[in-house]
Amino acid sequence: MTSATLTIDLGALVRNWQALDALSEGETGAVVKANGYGIGSPVAGRALARAGVRSFFVATANEGAILRAALGQGPTIYVFSGHMVGDTRLVEEAALTPLLNSVDQMLRHVEALPGAPFGIQLDTGMNRLGMEPPEWSAVRDIAIAQGPQLIMSHLACADEPDHPMNAHQLSEFHAMTDGLDVPRSLAATGGTLMGGAYHFDMTRPGVGLYGGLPFEGAAPVVNLDLPVIQVRDVAKGETVGYGNVWQAPRDARIATLSGGYADGLIRAMGAQATLFADATPCPVVGRVSMDLITADVTDLGHDPDTLQLLGARQTVDMVADAAGTIGYEILTSLGQRYHRTYAE
Ligand SMILES: *Cc1c(COP(=O)(O)O)cnc(C)c1O
Repeated sequence: MTSATLTIDLGALVRNWQALDALSEGETGAVVKANGYGIGSPVAGRALARAGVRSFFVATANEGAILRAALGQGPTIYVFSGHMVGDTRLVEEAALTPLLNSVDQMLRHVEALPGAPFGIQLDTGMNRLGMEPPEWSAVRDIAIAQGPQLIMSHLACADEPDHPMNAHQLSEFHAMTDGLDVPRSLAATGGTLMGGAYHFDMTRPGVGLYGGLPFEGAAPVVNLDLPVIQVRDVAKGETVGYGNVWQAPRDARIATLSGGYADGLIRAMGAQATLFADATPCPVVGRVSMDLITADVTDLGHDPDTLQLLGARQTVDMVADAAGTIGYEILTSLGQRYHRTYAE
């Protein structure tokens, strides 16, 4: 069975980074965790490095090692999960810069790799990762004496600019870091869009680079075209797919396409989703199966070779809405079975 084609527009990726970079006064990094939000971190990382990105962020040391192999020496690769038990060899060999989240991680790092670079992650209220204010007060002087490259924290509500949590976390971050002679970073995509007060020395956008909200102006990066395997006539009153959940309200022409929930076409999007034949919408009918999806092509007037799920007509966030989720999940669910092609 021919698999669907995921076409990644690296030019759009770079333009999105440049647009966010133009908003930031300091350095603009790039978050390429989760295999570059599904598009492939080695290729995305190389394109961004060519465009001038010098600081990359990943979630785990393993992701960092994969990215280092793609980038070679030079760019800094920060690891959000810090220095965990078992990470030392990767941190050293791939020259990673862990963002230390606790006193335990700090001790582990300076004992295992004395003099090796690191950054610090502080918790300013999200309660997910990072040192809390009392812990930070206790180790701050020792930590600063070791020369961290970056001190960062993360906003919990940056996709809602008016949320009072943003100002609260900003003032916590100031209270924990003002007066220290270390570069600081607070903003991901949402924080970058909230303006200069949130930028400090480095912004670190992720989802906006890949064409997702909250970056309204983002260019679409991901195009997903599904090949049609078979097209059939379905008489009024007949049903399509598992559970008989869709019944033809008229005589219809139904296309079966290669692509299902095993490829990240998450089942919840079901009947709310639409595929496109150029500008013509073709509603998804029936349940999404593991490897297959069915769409109503009656109004198209011909049998298409492919239909598009993601592209200029339908963003990751529109598909996410149909599935009751967010663009991040649509991107990071993009399956391994797709044939990925990269366009400049
Ligand atoms: C994922 C992540 C980012 C990037 O966030 P986006 O909303 O995708 O821009 C930045 N910082 C941290 C700590 C993250 O976990």
